[in-house]
Amino acid sequence: MHDRSASNTPMADPVLAAMPASGFTVHLDFGAASLTEAREQAVRYAEALSILCPEIAIETTQLSYVDAWDHIEQLFCGAIGPDGEVCVDVCDHPGFHRADGLAGLAWGDGDPDPDTRR
Ligand SMILES: [Zn+2]
Repeated sequence: MHDRSASNTPMADPVLAAMPASGFTVHLDFGAASLTEAREQAVRYAEALSILCPEIAIETTQLSYVDAWDHIEQLFCGAIGPDGEVCVDVCDHPGFHRADGLAGLAWGDGDPDPDTRR
C-alpha cells in the first residue's frame, strides 16, 4: 500500500492545498448493476469504513453516478437528535432515528403502526 503522507508530496491542486487542514472528502468509484444495488453497496462501504475509522462522518455520505457530482443523493438520514446526536440510519428509514454505536441514542416517533402502514 502506498503511504502518501510518508512521501510528503504536496497536493497538486493549489486551491485545495490552501484550504485549512480539516473537512476533506474522499470519493470512491465502484461498479453496480443498478442504482438500488449501488445504494446498498455504498451504505455497506460507508458503514464498514466507519467501523475502521470512527472519526469519519458517515451521515453525510452521498452517492452519484461516476462523476455526475451535480446529481447526488444522501445515503444516510442525518436527522439531529435532542442532544445534538446525528442519525446514521439510511435515508427514509422507518421508525426511530438512531445515533452511531451499539449504545447510540434512539429518538423520534418510533416504528409505524402496522395497521396504518401501507
Ligand atoms: Zn433517522
